[in-house]
Amino acid sequence: MNYIVFDLEWNQSPGGKSKENPKLPFEIIEIGAVRLNENFEQTGTFQEVIRPLVYHHLHFRMKEVVPVSEDELMKARTFSRVARDFLEWCGDDFAFVTWGNLDVLELQRNLDYYRIPYSFGKPLLYFDLQKLYSIRYSDGKKRLALEDAAGELGIPKTIPFHRALDDALYTAQIMEMMDFDAVKQYVSVDYYKLPENREEEIYLDFPTYSKYVSRIFPDKNTAISDKNVSSLGCPKCKMPVWKKIRWFSTGNSGVYLGLVKCPRHGFIKGKIRLKKLPDERIFVVKTTKITDQETADEIRKKRADLQEKRRQIRRRKKS
Ligand SMILES: [Zn+2]
Repeated sequence: MNYIVFDLEWNQSPGGKSKENPKLPFEIIEIGAVRLNENFEQTGTFQEVIRPLVYHHLHFRMKEVVPVSEDELMKARTFSRVARDFLEWCGDDFAFVTWGNLDVLELQRNLDYYRIPYSFGKPLLYFDLQKLYSIRYSDGKKRLALEDAAGELGIPKTIPFHRALDDALYTAQIMEMMDFDAVKQYVSVDYYKLPENREEEIYLDFPTYSKYVSRIFPDKNTAISDKNVSSLGCPKCKMPVWKKIRWFSTGNSGVYLGLVKCPRHGFIKGKIRLKKLPDERIFVVKTTKITDQETADEIRKKRADLQEKRRQIRRRKKS
């Protein structure tokens, strides 16, 4: 299997949101990619600038960061042609690697816009190296810019950043240097093509937590009353668990917490995130994690504080 480390440069409506094409808010204007074999050795590169067909002028912010001139863009081939060549160059047996979680989404949105067929697998699993870098060197939550991560690892800045191939090359170098095998089990799952029915819903087990991605629901209430969404069990064993705290809204919009206890593995923290699609429909990402007494106490306190706050608000309304 090959790794396709890729980076995209895209443009957006130069006239602002009001003149945006809602089907293509970000139009790809360059694809850069490095192909690595299983030993992280480079076996090829891909780079091509793309002539935009939706936004003919560069957004001012793009002019600042992407050193591609409008002249160069107008001479280039269109996305349909470049993307077909890119897909062929990727081959059949590969996994995508990107810095961040946006490129995989935008690639698919552009492919769909031009009705170009592709099969990336469903669910589409890929490696978000920005996340993996954080798991490897930091708290797993912090996100570093590519340039800063390269700096931290002492990779010399011999090529400029923000050209697609250059960024892909830096990403590939970081991948090579960071002991990728130690963190590669933390794959990312693409949310662009969501499960269409219960059978397609996604269950992933990671060393320290489990993740569930639901199908799409028409609204919030249908989502939270679904039994796959609301179930909370032990991610390690499938033993019956003791309910400690039922799901409660954290006050952060769309985030719910819950707590159970497994007789063998102890406290288990559940977190539900309701995610809204542009058409207002809802899908759910739920994570379950084995946790300690301290975190369990924090969850209890959080719920008690929220209940107290609500009580006060009710009292104020009455008086
Ligand atoms: Zn258990």
